[in-house]
Amino acid sequence: MRITMVGSGYVGLVSGACFADFGHDVICVDKDAAKIDALLAGRMPIYEPGLDALVASNVAAGRLAFSTDLAASVRGADAVFIAVGTPSRRGDGHADLSYVHAAAEEIAGAIDGFTVIVDKSTVPVGTGDEVERIIRDANPAAEFAVVSNPEFLREGAAIDDFKRPDRVVIGSDDPRALEVMRAIYRPLAIGRSPIIEMSRRAAELTKYAGNAFLATKITFINEIADLCEKVGADVQDVARGIGLDNRIGAKFLHAGPGYGGSCFPKDTLALLKTAQDCEAPQRIVEAVVAVNDQRKRAMGRKIITAMGGDVRDKTIAILGLTFKPNTDDMRDSPAISIIQTLQDAGASVRAYDPEGIEQAKKVLDDVTYCEGAYQAVDGADAVAIVTEWNQFRALDLKRIKALLKGDVLVDLRNIYARADVEAIGLRYTAVGR
Ligand code: NAD
Repeated sequence: MRITMVGSGYVGLVSGACFADFGHDVICVDKDAAKIDALLAGRMPIYEPGLDALVASNVAAGRLAFSTDLAASVRGADAVFIAVGTPSRRGDGHADLSYVHAAAEEIAGAIDGFTVIVDKSTVPVGTGDEVERIIRDANPAAEFAVVSNPEFLREGAAIDDFKRPDRVVIGSDDPRALEVMRAIYRPLAIGRSPIIEMSRRAAELTKYAGNAFLATKITFINEIADLCEKVGADVQDVARGIGLDNRIGAKFLHAGPGYGGSCFPKDTLALLKTAQDCEAPQRIVEAVVAVNDQRKRAMGRKIITAMGGDVRDKTIAILGLTFKPNTDDMRDSPAISIIQTLQDAGASVRAYDPEGIEQAKKVLDDVTYCEGAYQAVDGADAVAIVTEWNQFRALDLKRIKALLKGDVLVDLRNIYARADVEAIGLRYTAVGR
C-alpha cells in the first residue's frame, strides 16, 4: 500500500515508521520545515524510545520518506492519514479542528484516483462528516471515502503499542475503504490483534470514551489516596486489593499528582463540550476534570506543607518535569502547576528531567535547570519527585541526604519505601500512604 501521513508529530511519525516497517511505502509530510529537515538529516524531532533506529532502517530500505510537499505526496496514495494536532480551542475547551480542516482542504486538491482519507487525529463525533463535506466541496470530482481510525498509542511505549495494540478501531461502512484498511493492518491481524469495524461515529466516540474512562480511573484512585491519608491506610495496598479483581484491573491505579499530557486533559474537555452540545451531560467526567484540575496545585501545596508551611526564600529540587517517563512531552504536565504553585509561594526551583528540559523551558519561567538529579538536589531545602523516570527509582538516598540543605523528600509517585527514606534521616511525604 502507498500511505501518506499528514502531520509528523508523535502520532504521525510513529505510525508512519511502523507502517513502513510492516512493508508499506510511506511518506510522512509536515508543514513544519524544521521538523522535516531534521528527519531528512536523520535527527528525531521528538524523543520516543526506539524511534531513531526504526526510522533509520526503514529509510535505508527505501520504504519511508519525508516531505513538506503535501500535494505531491498525496498524489497516487492509496490512503492518506490525517495525524495533525487537535488541541483545546482557546477559551471554550472544544477541540480545535482548524488543522484537521486545513489538512482536508489541502488533501482535496491532490486526490488522484480512489483514495481513503483516514482520520487518525482525535476528533469529536461528526468530524468525519465535516471532512467529507470539505473535500467534496473543494474537489467535486474526487473519488474518496473518509474513515475514522483513532490512535491509542502511549508516548514512551509508542512503537510497541502500535505494533502490538490491544485493538485497532476502524470506523467506516464503505466496502472499498474497508478493504484498503484491512490490507494496511493485515500484518497486525496475523499477529492476532483484534481489528474491530464499526460506524465512523462510533469510532470517533470510542477514542474519547476510552480516554475519559482512563482519566476517571486515575482520578478515582487519587481521591481514594486522599482518604487513605486521613484514615491511615496505604493506597498501594488498596490499589492492589481492588486491581486484582479482573473486573477492575490493576492498570491506571497508581495514585499520583493528577493526569496530564497531550491527550487526557484536552480530550476529557472536548468530550464534555460535545456532550453539552448534544444535551447528554457527562456528570462523571465533569467531576473528573474538576478534581484533576484542583489536584495539580494541591500537590504544590503538599510540598509546601511538608516543608512546614512556608517556602519563602527556600529552594526546592524538582526531579522529573514531563507528564510521564520516556517522553519529552511537557503538554499539561502536572509539574507545570506544581512549580508555579511553589514559585507563587516564594520558593526557588531547581529542576532536572532526562529528556524534557528543552520543552520545559518553553512553558516555565525562572527555573534553574540542572544536568542531573544530584546537581539539582545540591544545596536545596527539599526534593520532590514528580515524574517516575527509571533513574529516579534507585537514587543514592545517602548522597541525597548529604547534598540537601534540608531534610524533606516528597515522593509524588510513591517510588520509595518510607522506612528506607526515614532510616537515612530524611522526612518522607508520599501520596496516600
Ligand atoms: P503533534 O503536535 O506532535 O503533531 C502534529 C503535527 O502536525 C505537527 O508536526 C504539525 O506541524 C503538523 N501539521 C499540522 N497541520 C498540518 C498540515 N496541514 N500539513 C502537514 N502537517 C501539519 O501532535 P500529536 O501528539 O502527534 O497528536 C496528533 C493527534 O493524535 C491529536 O489529535 C492527538 O490528540 C492524537 N493522539 C495523540 C497521542 C499522543 O500520545 N501524542 C495518542 C493518541 C492520539
